[in-house]
Amino acid sequence: MGSKDQWAISKRRGSDEIAPGATASSVDSSAGPKATILIIEDEPPLQNFLNATLTSHRYKTIAALTGEAGLRHAANDQPDLIILDLGLPDLDGVEVTRRIREWSAIPIIVVSARGKEQDKVVALDAGADDYLTKPFSVGELLARVRVVFRHLSAAKPDTGESLFENGDLRVDLARREVIVRGEQKHLTPNEYRLLAVLIKNAGRVMTHRQLLREVWGPGSADENHYIRVYINQLREKIELNAARPVHLITETGVGYRLAAP
Ligand code: CA
Repeated sequence: MGSKDQWAISKRRGSDEIAPGATASSVDSSAGPKATILIIEDEPPLQNFLNATLTSHRYKTIAALTGEAGLRHAANDQPDLIILDLGLPDLDGVEVTRRIREWSAIPIIVVSARGKEQDKVVALDAGADDYLTKPFSVGELLARVRVVFRHLSAAKPDTGESLFENGDLRVDLARREVIVRGEQKHLTPNEYRLLAVLIKNAGRVMTHRQLLREVWGPGSADENHYIRVYINQLREKIELNAARPVHLITETGVGYRLAAP
């Protein structure tokens, strides 16, 4: 019910942010000017907003108003990224994610309504790369898109950077060294594995299930409390104030995100 109003608010906020001259520095240069983004969204105002915003930031866009049309464009037009609404009239967005993942690793950012955390989690576990919750700002949208393209360009095998630095946190993955505010920290093997997985996915949300699978292996998917315990321990070691984390961000109901530089 209130979603249209909410949308109007964020759209106004958005048009402020894309005022002429205000955006040059936020244009994504790493992905090149011609990255193509497929937008699968059935609400015309949101479809138009996404198109206008991304086009003004030099992305090429393709619009699809249904899941079936989206699947067709994904196969025929080979976009570099897909923005996918989870609430579509014909196919469930989660189903669209699953079908695309059967043949392609194209990055997918899902868009969902507030309060539908479970949908997001299912979509992420089905292979989506990240999510946006309506209403979202232009800044959030572009930040998510940039993170996805950054991961794409960093994905070249074996040339991966071994040094992660963000603010007061510095991790040398080759030496397994964690330096916080100039001081070396001792991490247990599980703490270190968890941190390393988050660094590999810096800026991206990781669901509880993904973290469990990556850190503890496939048999552990129901042990959510492991994650909480280890996240808390990690925060004690790397955050200035563990109660107000700036590195290890909680995504309520979904998982955790390590802040990207
Ligand atoms: Ca929709």
